[in-house]
Amino acid sequence: MPELPEVETVRRGLVPAMVGARILSVEQRRPDLRFPFPQNFVARLTEQSITALDRRAKYLLADLSSGEVLIMHLGMTGRFLIAQNGAAVSPGDFHFAAGGAQTHDHVVFHLSNGAAVTYNDARRFGFMDLVPRAELETCRHFVGMGLEPLGGALSGAAVARLFRGRRTPLKAALLDQRLIAGLGNIYICEALFRAGLHPEAPAGSLATAGGEPTDAAHRLVDAIRAVLAEAVAAGGSTLRDYVQTDGSLGYFQHAFRVYDRAGEPCVTPGCAGAVTRLVQSGRSTFYCPACQPPARGVR
Ligand SMILES: [Zn+2]
Repeated sequence: MPELPEVETVRRGLVPAMVGARILSVEQRRPDLRFPFPQNFVARLTEQSITALDRRAKYLLADLSSGEVLIMHLGMTGRFLIAQNGAAVSPGDFHFAAGGAQTHDHVVFHLSNGAAVTYNDARRFGFMDLVPRAELETCRHFVGMGLEPLGGALSGAAVARLFRGRRTPLKAALLDQRLIAGLGNIYICEALFRAGLHPEAPAGSLATAGGEPTDAAHRLVDAIRAVLAEAVAAGGSTLRDYVQTDGSLGYFQHAFRVYDRAGEPCVTPGCAGAVTRLVQSGRSTFYCPACQPPARGVR
């Protein structure tokens, strides 16, 4: 499943082809993906210009000149392919490497700059929706959604405010999309390791009795920012059947320090610990018991 860094990588790949372009026509080849397409989907897109392409958590947001926003979610296997001037992509490589068939090309946007942007989704857990810009924050996708972790809103103070008084484990609080939106299991494990915080420490331990952020809260925010920024710079994380939006095979195994490394020696120089797996909220957590002792979670 694409996590936030993959979606941000996709966004950056789509921006040059889509932003500033007008949508000449749209091929919608099915009535639905995970959800039905919105009413009059093609008509509401045709002749609109794309004025911006942003991201909120794992959703892509294309602002249209009509005042509506095209919301696009990649689900499990969604991806985009850009064909422009017949030269930008290598469809053979794409289909070979991706194992993706053209039968999974569900939407094609034909743009005024000559680009054809195809949305392909083998398992169809992705979806698209259209919402007025003014109603974006209150629409069903975003109402109640937590802070954006790559924006300026995430800070030690924000974490202290959100986590104060919570006895839930830190790992579970970080997975809670109502608090911080878009952090996935992989990046939470990596951030907790870098911050030296035990995944089972109570989330509330990141706030003082007076509600101020602890040093650990600041360390955690720095670690979240760092792991996400590095993953975006690396072009995402892991997915073997994932192709960058320019069609190139740019994804490579990101250098995870603890994720999926159970039993391996800890990478911290001088640490004699081994990466350990535990199950929290039905998800695997990977951590180093030596670098992330329970007491360190408290302050
Ligand atoms: Zn260690």
